Amino acid sequence: MEEIDYKCMHCGNEYRGSFDKLIPIERTCPKCNSNSIRRAKKKPRKP
Ligand SMILES: [Zn+2]
Repeated sequence: MEEIDYKCMHCGNEYRGSFDKLIPIERTCPKCNSNSIRRAKKKPRKP
């Protein structure tokens, strides 16, 4: 299972969550409970 970044299109909240290809999880924003969630594609950067 991998972790990816999500972004809420409703309130703009960004959070990290688990992503399982086999088991689709219904994504909801932990802040406003909106289901308008998009994957925020960010390249991992290590300092
Ligand atoms: Zn939200």
